[in-house]
Amino acid sequence: MKTIYSRPKALLDVPNAFCPGCNHSTIMRLIAEVLEETGLSQKAIAAVGIGCGGMLGYFLDCDTVNALHGRAPAVATGIKRVRPDNLVFAYQGDGDLASIGMAETIHAANRGEKITIVFVNNVIFGMTGGQMAPTTLIGQNTTTTPDGRNAELHGYPIRVCELINQLDAPAYIARFAVNTPSNIIKAKAGLKKAFEIQMAGKGYSFVEILSACPTGWGLMPLGSLTAVGEKMMKYFSLGVLRSPEEGK
Ligand code: SF4
Repeated sequence: MKTIYSRPKALLDVPNAFCPGCNHSTIMRLIAEVLEETGLSQKAIAAVGIGCGGMLGYFLDCDTVNALHGRAPAVATGIKRVRPDNLVFAYQGDGDLASIGMAETIHAANRGEKITIVFVNNVIFGMTGGQMAPTTLIGQNTTTTPDGRNAELHGYPIRVCELINQLDAPAYIARFAVNTPSNIIKAKAGLKKAFEIQMAGKGYSFVEILSACPTGWGLMPLGSLTAVGEKMMKYFSLGVLRSPEEGK
């Protein structure tokens, strides 16, 4: 019998450490598949943020550096500038990237650093106990907004792709989700494209992926995938905002 689906070599054979239904595992598998298919596994260096995504180095067969909270784009910048032939990417959640790390996020994008940012947006601080993040949806209950996020008190959820799209330098900006098989296929293609843009020297690439956090949301895995489609995607539209072919 022919094997048509197996573990990519870039995904290490270790027990899953994420909560059941967490999409970090889906996204890390996609990165592993892309690294294997492009032959970039041994050239890849990841700067990893703080949060559940910080476990990336435990799962992927590539070099990783754990950055201080929010500083992954700055760390990735330094690595890429001294190792321009390597594939350098940051892997960050929304608490890390859009809260404490917003300054690094904006300035690395504005400089057009030749790095890739993989932004896993699950609209909550997952690892630290389910607090409100900058991306938390209006009305969403979190441990710090038990009555739901209120725009008047807490501001509006930040659409990071659209924010970065105001800048001149980025080469590729896109938002995907992994809540359905077809969206998973598109997310993988987006990751591949972002890595190829970097390796072709075309500039900064930013890939946001909407991700389920069943534990932080208080939902079962299937219900959390439904919530991605019915709630998150209504506010965070999927699609490619910018690519080198289309220009700005
Ligand atoms: S807390 Fe949320 S983001 Fe963290 S591992 Fe669990 S489901 Fe995933």
